[in-house]
Amino acid sequence: MVELAQREEIEYGDSPSKVIEWFNARLEEGTSKVYVARGWCKRCGICVTFCPVKALDRDSDGVPVVFEDACISCGTCEIMCPDYAIVVSGLKAKQGK
Ligand code: SF4
Ligand code: SF4
Repeated sequence: MVELAQREEIEYGDSPSKVIEWFNARLEEGTSKVYVARGWCKRCGICVTFCPVKALDRDSDGVPVVFEDACISCGTCEIMCPDYAIVVSGLKAKQGK
């Protein structure tokens, strides 16, 4: 299991452009299939519930963490998150395929 995005740079109320910049930087790093902006995540657990392969769990703070080997990069968690707090790398749509 990988602790997602330990950084706390993104806080609730930050501008959308800052959030996009933060996510793009994480995607550029490419160290995980899934990234969560902890400051934006409201710990609702929707992404965990909808993951079709149970690749997400929650840490002691309630924030999603991913089992990298189980994640199939389907994008469901990103689509279902009501707070735009989780982003999946490697999606075919993002690759223009
Ligand atoms: S991308 Fe799909 S498989 Fe991976 S954590 Fe999100 S919902 Fe689960
Ligand atoms: S659906 Fe979004 S806000 Fe809810 S736990 Fe997942 S990442 Fe956090």
